[in-house]
Amino acid sequence: MRIILLGPPGSGKGTQAQRLVQRYGIVQLSTGEMLRAAVAAGTPVGLRAKDIMASGGLVPDEVVVGVIAERIEQPDAKKGFILDGFPRTVPQAEALDALLKQKHMKLDAVIELRVNESALLQRVETRVAEMLARGEEVRVDDTPEVLTKRLATYRSLTEPLIHYYSERRKLLTVDGMMTIEQVTREIARILAAIGAVDGAPAKRAPGRRGGKGTPQKAVRRGTRSSTAGKASAKKAAKAARKAGKRPAKVAKKVVRKAGRKAARKAAKKVTKRRANA
Ligand code: ADP
Repeated sequence: MRIILLGPPGSGKGTQAQRLVQRYGIVQLSTGEMLRAAVAAGTPVGLRAKDIMASGGLVPDEVVVGVIAERIEQPDAKKGFILDGFPRTVPQAEALDALLKQKHMKLDAVIELRVNESALLQRVETRVAEMLARGEEVRVDDTPEVLTKRLATYRSLTEPLIHYYSERRKLLTVDGMMTIEQVTREIARILAAIGAVDGAPAKRAPGRRGGKGTPQKAVRRGTRSSTAGKASAKKAAKAARKAGKRPAKVAKKVVRKAGRKAARKAAKKVTKRRANA
């Protein structure tokens, strides 16, 4: 599974990424973390990034693209990854598309965490207070002034990615104002709905959709009856395969049948309601 978490600073990308790592055993690739490590180690990348990061600006595209290109080559990223903080500009997104294409890798979805801007400052302040209480070192860019700049940078350079991925039918938006637990559950639900995860660990998942469904379609159009149809279609396809028949044909038939059944049921309900009125 390969996904991107998109959202302004303080929207919960890091928190959710860690939970996804635990749940699905894939790696989190946070460009912020990688750059901070480079700064701490004093590497050439770190030297270029240090002042830019401290001021709330963006490190040049070619630098972060280079960092990511190297990172997704590593063996631990083979099973999948969550990109957190990358891409942050349209050229970065284009570079990522080219990179994935070249490596024959497919992006499953881009999950946008949508939050009220007014809540962000408070969230970052809370994060700083908690880090201080734990005796941890606070990020130099976690001050109200730099945060304001980071937000402005997000709005002008990163927000256009919402349109970019929406046009490519990859965007899934989650309400980031819910509790951490609720956001996690919602992400798991939509990942199961688009068929990005095997075994669908999420509860209330509307079921996996066939390969042709785009993420948006899958989540928005996943009605209960069509889901039921797909589930039985899957079963039928398996049985057909065992019996040596063509599974796709059988599955289609089952979906049609399930659809007809649901329609008949709905019609019956209307008739009954009318009779009672
Ligand atoms: P945030 O909490 O603001 O999302 P991150 O830890 O993701 O913070 O990133 C911190 C800083 O690192 C950014 O403000 C930026 O300077 C730099 N950075 C991280 N990712 C990128 C990227 N993809 N492109 C350019 N700069 C980046």
